[in-house]
Amino acid sequence: MNSTPLVGVLALQGDFEAHEHVLARLGARTRQVRVAADLDGIDALIIPGGESTVMTLGIEREDLAEPLRAVAASGVPVLGTCAGMIMLDRAHLGILDGIAKRNAFGRQLHSFEAEFEVDGLEGGPVRAVFIRAPWIAEAGETVQILALVDGHPVAVRQDNVIALSFHPELSGEDRVHRMLLEMAGHRNRGTGNE
Ligand code: GLN
Repeated sequence: MNSTPLVGVLALQGDFEAHEHVLARLGARTRQVRVAADLDGIDALIIPGGESTVMTLGIEREDLAEPLRAVAASGVPVLGTCAGMIMLDRAHLGILDGIAKRNAFGRQLHSFEAEFEVDGLEGGPVRAVFIRAPWIAEAGETVQILALVDGHPVAVRQDNVIALSFHPELSGEDRVHRMLLEMAGHRNRGTGNE
């Protein structure tokens, strides 16, 4: 395989460019995903923050739900941030066995920053930006909770799928993207595809 991983970033709406900048800094290749064919051959997938209602309409319009589920089911690492977390849940794409509660931190708390440890990320607390953020209100047994804020899960992982309430791509935090690229590397080596 090409040793530089190719990361698809769903680019129907939202802050997909911010993710692309982090990935470019880390030396990954990126591809904006707008139609199903854009998913071919990607080593990882990101569903960005934005507005989940608008993203849902875009996914319906482009018939992307099945192709996105197929990518996740094939084991490709997937990261959803904020609206991306909502898109992954049972009520939307059904890729994550959990339910995200939208705008969970209260309407008056439009945005805030917090620092906390995330399981699996070495090197101290994450500086996280929350913007009208969801949290995970309900999670199946196979969902690992990686971080809590106010007692609510804001970072979770289920096998190859990571969902975050916050926006690492907006705070100069690149460890989650590094982790995604590592997961992609592992998987590619595992298939003996080098
Ligand atoms: N509140 C938005 C929604 O419900 C998510 C906000 C975000 O992605 N920053 O879709």
